[in-house]
Amino acid sequence: MQARDPVCGMTVDTAKAAAHGTYDGQEVYFCSLGCRTAFEKERALRRP
Ligand SMILES: [Zn+2]
Repeated sequence: MQARDPVCGMTVDTAKAAAHGTYDGQEVYFCSLGCRTAFEKERALRRP
């Protein structure tokens, strides 16, 4: 299955994704740990 990295827009293979997390009950996949960190950082800013 493929998913889109919301940070950089890259298409990632969910089986080989470098990082993933569940946000609001939705599984999100990232191409790298750096993208997950950036996503979580931005999320924290948007919802204090
Ligand atoms: Zn990425």
